[in-house]
Order: sequence, then C-alpha cells, then structure tokens
Amino acid sequence: MTDPTMSPSAASPGALHWNEEDVRGFGMAVGGPGKVLRPTTTEQVADALADVRARGGNVALRGAGCSYGDAATNRGSYVLDLSAMNKILDFDPATGLATVEPGVTVRDLWRKAITFGYWPKVVSGTAAVSMGGAAAMNIHGKNNYALGPFGECVKSFDLMTARGELVHVTAESDPDLFHAAISGFGMLGCMTKLQIQTKRVHSGRLRVWGIVARDLAHNLQILEDLRGTADYLVSWVDLHAKGKGLGRGLMHRAEQLQPGEDPEGVRFYEPALQDVPTTMFGVVPKGWLWPGMWCALHLGQVGLVNALKFRAGHLEERGSPYLQTHGAFHFLLDYVPRWQWMTRPGGLIQFQPFVPMAESERVLRTIIERCQKAGHVPYLGVLKRHRPDAFLMTHAVDGVSMAMDFAVSRNEARRQELWKLCQELAEVVLEAGGRFYYAKDAVLLASSFARVHGDEAVGRFRALKAKWDPDRLLQTDLSRRMGV
Ligand SMILES: Cc1cc2nc3c(=O)[nH]c(=O)nc-3n(C[C@H](O)[C@H](O)[C@H](O)COP(=O)(O)OP(=O)(O)OC[C@H]3O[C@@H](n4cnc5c(N)ncnc54)[C@H](O)[C@@H]3O)c2cc1C
Repeated sequence: MTDPTMSPSAASPGALHWNEEDVRGFGMAVGGPGKVLRPTTTEQVADALADVRARGGNVALRGAGCSYGDAATNRGSYVLDLSAMNKILDFDPATGLATVEPGVTVRDLWRKAITFGYWPKVVSGTAAVSMGGAAAMNIHGKNNYALGPFGECVKSFDLMTARGELVHVTAESDPDLFHAAISGFGMLGCMTKLQIQTKRVHSGRLRVWGIVARDLAHNLQILEDLRGTADYLVSWVDLHAKGKGLGRGLMHRAEQLQPGEDPEGVRFYEPALQDVPTTMFGVVPKGWLWPGMWCALHLGQVGLVNALKFRAGHLEERGSPYLQTHGAFHFLLDYVPRWQWMTRPGGLIQFQPFVPMAESERVLRTIIERCQKAGHVPYLGVLKRHRPDAFLMTHAVDGVSMAMDFAVSRNEARRQELWKLCQELAEVVLEAGGRFYYAKDAVLLASSFARVHGDEAVGRFRALKAKWDPDRLLQTDLSRRMGV
C-alpha cells in the first residue's frame, strides 16, 4: 500500500494522489471503497479540499473511524483522514487547557493531562476516538447527566470551511456556528485545531461501586437515585434476561477522590499505571481473546455468558467500593483489542435510542421484548443517564439512552430483517419524543431527520450548511442517507 500521507509541498488542485482503501465504520457492517488522503498540516487540508473541488467530487472528514456506522465513510468518493494531524500543541499545567490538532486521541490527551493531575472532562468508552471526531459528534461520557457533552469543554476551534477559509470559532464569536459545527457530524467544515478544558483530579484513581440491578425498573431507579451525587454512572444490561429479570444488569457508580483521601493516588498519575493491561494474568495477550468471544457469539452462548456475568456482579457488589484507575474504569471496551472482530464476518451495528425519563421504562421494555421476540437479541446493552444541551444537532434528552450492539448476519435476508426491526424500534422511540445519535446509527431513514431534531433545528442546520458549504463538498454516507 502506498503512503497516503501528503508530502509537504502540495500539488496543484486536481493532481493529488488519493489512495484507494476499504473505508468502513467501526462495526465493519457498512462502508466501502474510498479514496483516502492523510494530511499532516492545515495547509494540506486546504489543498485537499481544493483538490476535491477541482475534481467536482465530494469528501468525508474522518477522525479515528470509531463511529459504528457510516458517519465517516463515503463509498466510491473521497475521504480526508485527519488521524495524522495528531500533535498536542500545548498543555497549560496551571489551568488544564489543552490545545490540540484534530487527530489527537482521547488516549493522547489523558496521558498528557494525568501527568499534571488533570483528566478529560468527557471521555468515550474507547480512548481511540479523536478530538475532531469527538467534537463533530459531540460525544458523551458516563457523566453526561452531570457535566454535559464534549462540546461543553471545547473553548474554541479553528474551522477550515469547504471554500478553504480558516475561521477561529468560540461560543462568543459565532454562537450559531459553534453550536452547530460541534454536533454537526463534519458537515460545516474541518476542525484543524481545538482548545479543550480538562478537569483537576486529586488522585489517579476513582472509588467504584458495582450495584446489582434486579430488573429494568431497578436499573432506572438507581440512575435516578444516584445522579445527584455520583460523578459517573453506567449500567451493563443483560438483554437476554426475560420475565421478572428483564432489563437486569450491573450498575457502576464512580466518585472522584477528594484531596488527601487517597494518599497513594498521586503515584497513579503515571500513565503506564493507568493504561489497560495488554495481557491477562501477565502472559496471555488480550489480542488473543476475541476468537473465544467469536465462538461464544457464533455458538449462541451469549445468554449463558450474560447470566454468568450477572452472577459475578453479586460478588463485585459485595466487594464494593474499591479503587480503580481512571483508565481502567472508563475504557472497559479497550480491555480486549479488536473485540469487534468477534462479530465477523457480518460485523455489528449499534442502535442507541435516547428516551425521555417519563417514557423510559415503557419504551425500553418494549424494545427489549421486541428484540427477544424477533430473535435479534443484542449481545451487549449499556444504559446511561443524560441531560439536554445547547448544541443544534444534539442527541441528548432529559432521560436515558440504551446502547445495543447487534451482530449482523452475512445472510442478506437476516440482515434486512435486522434493519427493519431497528427501524420499527426507532418509530417507538420517536413517537415517545426520543432522539438518536449518528455515531451509533446505521439504520435511520431520511424521514426521521426532522423528527429527531424538530423542524426548526433542521431548518437552521440546513441554512448553515448552505452558508458554509453551498456546493455540498462535505458529504458522508450518513449525510446522504439522512438527506442532509
Ligand atoms: C468502542 C467504542 C465505544 C464508544 N463509546 C462512546 C461513548 O461512550 N460515548 C459516545 O458519545 N460515543 C462513543 N463512541 C462513539 C465515538 O465516540 C464517536 O463515534 C466519535 O465521533 C468517534 O470519533 P472518531 O475520531 O473516530 O471520528 P470518526 O468516527 O472518524 O468521525 C465521526 C464524525 O466526525 C466527523 N469528523 C471527524 N474529524 C473531524 C474534524 N477534524 N472536523 C470536523 N468533523 C470531523 C466525521 O465526518 C464524522 O461525521 C464509541 C465508539 C466505540 C468504537
């Protein structure tokens, strides 16, 4: 494969070499061939956009490619991959303010921040996500109900527009553009530099509780009871459990430690002590674990694995609270490298409805029951609490979300059946005033776009798109699917 990283001196528009690659979502189930370029400077971003303009094409922006579906894919067209713009330009130890290029990952940021006793305010379940992708999707963490989304810790960003102008944007300088580019899934321009506020921590560890949730109602009740005091809340849900145990799971609650509470805590500012270990029992590389998971999935043993995990939850509850590093608590999904390969060959899709609190039990119960009845039971369910935010294409509600991972069959009829099921479930959610999150979507129909955001927000977003990208240079498979 030739190196698609651009050389320092760009060629004239229309003459750059874009590398043919298979560009897929994290779940591998959607995507396809794309022509890829990896700029290393802002000037090269401008050259690349000019190149696509000159060719009369369209281009998708891509960070680390961690969106599960088609948010950063562009079948048959151009893909500008920002992962090689990965320098932390500045980190102020007095304030915790980081200035970064867009390809800097959550992992790069926390490794820098923790050395000075800071931690990113909002992190995703994997540390592989880039800052540009995090802002464009306005990601949420396990503390969304308390600290809001990623966009609320972005102080400013530089946006390269489709026409090649570089605009410095803050919430004060251009509130409309600020609140739309963040959450605007890469439709309004390419972020080439961001300033991100991190938060002070007084230990490299958190105090963590495992709490067994008997059923769905209990799971939701724990979220309600603890959201006023807990720093982080997230629940694993056993989506195979039926009857009285439907919606049961294991909640994790975590609290930051106060100054002096953990005398050993500063030792864990050392990044190597935060990192998720790469071996099990010090010998077995975790990269070898996914084939075992593949067997469990393909031999139909997920229900059994979940039942065992639920039982193990009782042990964890008895041993709670315990101390855990920030890295180990947040990046559970990074414990097993390439875990998504267990869903090969069909891959996976994630479906994450956001439901207002008052409707949450009814809607989530309906969803779980319908999945079980249809024989498409997600192998993983994750429940979180959210609160609304001021970003234009927000996915948040005053309520909960349940992320569900479905393995996709290679059998076309089964695949179509899964898509249809998810579209029917989406109806239930939208009728209840719920929303969806494009980082986790592969199935929504264009007719849902205005229903997710409301006519007024969609009208404002389309007007901003027409202003900043009148020729619709920036496109993705997702944007075409949603009719943006
Ligand atoms: C294992 C796993 C766990 C996850 N956990 C969470 C979670 O807990 N919470 C959560 O909210 N999400 C979560 N996600 C989803 C993930 O955080 C989002 O999909 C995020 O946007 C991925 O960032 P990325 O750098 O990979 O961007 P990509 O997926 O490559 O792109 C995402 C979007 O950002 C746009 N974009 C990328 N770079 C730029 C740029 N420089 N300027 C403008 N637009 C740009 C793209 O066009 C695209 O629309 C998880 C994903 C995985 C795989």
